[in-house]
Amino acid sequence: MVQEIVRRLGAHQRVLDLGCATGSFQSDGLAATVIRADLDTPARHMGDRFVQCDARQLPFAEPAFDAVILNHSLEHFENPANVLSEIRRVIRKPGYLWIAVPDASTMTDRLYRWLGRGGGHVNLFTDVDALVRLVQEQTGLPHVGTRLLFSSLAFMNRQNNKGRKPRRIYLVGGGSERLLRLSIFLFRKIDALFGTRISVYGWACCFGSTVEFDPRPWSNVCVRCGSGHASDELLKSGRTRRGVLGPRYFCCPSCGVENYFTNDSAYLGMR
Ligand SMILES: [Zn+2]
Repeated sequence: MVQEIVRRLGAHQRVLDLGCATGSFQSDGLAATVIRADLDTPARHMGDRFVQCDARQLPFAEPAFDAVILNHSLEHFENPANVLSEIRRVIRKPGYLWIAVPDASTMTDRLYRWLGRGGGHVNLFTDVDALVRLVQEQTGLPHVGTRLLFSSLAFMNRQNNKGRKPRRIYLVGGGSERLLRLSIFLFRKIDALFGTRISVYGWACCFGSTVEFDPRPWSNVCVRCGSGHASDELLKSGRTRRGVLGPRYFCCPSCGVENYFTNDSAYLGMR
C-alpha cells in the first residue's frame, strides 16, 4: 500500500523510510531515492542508502524529503509527538506522510505482544481519531484519508521464522501456514457476518498532499508476505480461482503464495 505513495514520486525526489529495520517496502522500479533510517543498524537492508539515527533528532537538513513513511514504526517510538515534529521539519511541502499502526485493542496486536513479550510496542493506539489529531497538530499536514488494515497473522507463519520460535507459539498452532490461512478466512467471514473486528490489524493514514486515496479496506492480505491487495484488482488481474469445495483463492501478486479470497465490499463502513 505504501507503493500507492512512493510510485507517485519522480527522479530527484526523496523518500524517508523511518524506523524501517531492514526496509518497510520494496524500492525496485521506483524513480525516487529511498533513504532507510533506524535506531539500530540491521545486519542486512534492502540495498538503498541507510542512516543510523534517533528519530527524535533526524540528521537531515530541512526540508529534505518529499515523502516520509512510518510503516508499522510509530508504535515503537517512545515520544511520538517529538518524532512527528521532526518530520514537520524535514518534509518538503507539499509532501506525503504515510503512517500505519496496529490497533492495540485487536486480537492480532494482543497476540503479537503476547508472543513477543511486548514486541517493542510502547505506544498502544486504540483511537484512530486521536492519532489523526496528534499527527495533524505536530506536522501541520492535512489528513487525506484512513484505511482499515486487516491481519494475515504473517508474523506467526513459521515459513517466515526459520530460527528459534517463542515457545508460546505452540499454544496457538505452532505457526502452521495452512492453519493460519484457514483461521484468517474464518475470522474474515465472521467479521463480515456479525460486524466484529476479529481479523482487523490497525489503520493506515495518509497526510499531506491532496492525492487520490481510496479509503476502502483491502481484506486480502497474504499469509506469507503480509502484503495487502484490493479485491477488485485481484479479480481484474485474473489472479483468483474457484476451489473445488466453493471458496475462491487468490495468488499473491507479491510472493505467489495462495490465499483464500474475500470481497472487500463486505467490510465497507468498518473502522
Ligand atoms: Zn504474498
